Amino acid sequence: MIASSFNLAGRRALVSGASRGIGAALAVALAEAGADVALTARGRSALDAAAAAVRAAGRRAETLEHDVSAAGAAETAIAAAEAALGPLDILINNAGVEEVRPSLDVDEALWDRIVDVNLRGAFFLAQAAARSMIAGGRRGAILNVCSLTSFVGVPTAAPYTASKSGLLGLTRALSAEWAPQGVRVNGIAPGYFRTALTEPFYADADWSAAMLDRIPMGRFGAVEDLGGAAVFLCSDAAAYVTGQCLGVDGGYLASI
Ligand code: NAP
Repeated sequence: MIASSFNLAGRRALVSGASRGIGAALAVALAEAGADVALTARGRSALDAAAAAVRAAGRRAETLEHDVSAAGAAETAIAAAEAALGPLDILINNAGVEEVRPSLDVDEALWDRIVDVNLRGAFFLAQAAARSMIAGGRRGAILNVCSLTSFVGVPTAAPYTASKSGLLGLTRALSAEWAPQGVRVNGIAPGYFRTALTEPFYADADWSAAMLDRIPMGRFGAVEDLGGAAVFLCSDAAAYVTGQCLGVDGGYLASI
């Protein structure tokens, strides 16, 4: 009974930013749990490998071009995913960008680029998904990929920290607003994962050693470490969980 509550068979999901890294891994995790998946990114062909991995797990995959920072594009993306797969039950807001720069040097273009993708894009995709879920009378699960910076501040990452702290606030606000209509909204907060986004940090051996020292489990995360938390929060096993953000960080946030 409890094991079947984690099963996503018959569910349909959209994962934004699924062309590589964490988003690709989350798309595959959902598929392995039984869901069909629409994968989105700014370029469609970049999604082919992740879509093939979803199909290899025995599920349907649809690839869609969608820039989450493009005005008015969220409704179109949700409609296209639903035209291909059927009504969505799950949305993972994963698309994200980062650029470190001293705050004294941050200009409006950098601020807008980061906040538009990480926060504004996530809100409008959640809104479009929830409109469909609520209008269709379906229970829905929205999962926002937050960050350690949803909880703590990181020097030279003010726009990113603000966007991810905002995303946690959004998670809480939407969870409260949509709970009566059966849409749950949660988050996961990955710790340190080596991906294209974070690769520049790992090139610095001193940075890597200092970070490893601060992670109680003594290793960086592998993107596959995130699948269990994501599947749990998107599944009926988490039917009474909403407005939460689960750290997947090897113990980083719990320690000093
Ligand atoms: P990544 O490898 O750079 O992947 C980012 C994904 O977002 C790509 O699929 C990229 O696709 C997509 N993307 C970027 N801009 C987009 C846009 N405007 N519209 C649609 N898609 C867009 O980074 P990652 O490390 O996997 O990060 C995934 C998420 O995890 C991000 O939200 C990030 O903030 C969060 N996170 C990462 C870590 C970490 O340690 N890596 C830690 C905490 C949180 P295209 O470039 O193909 O469009």
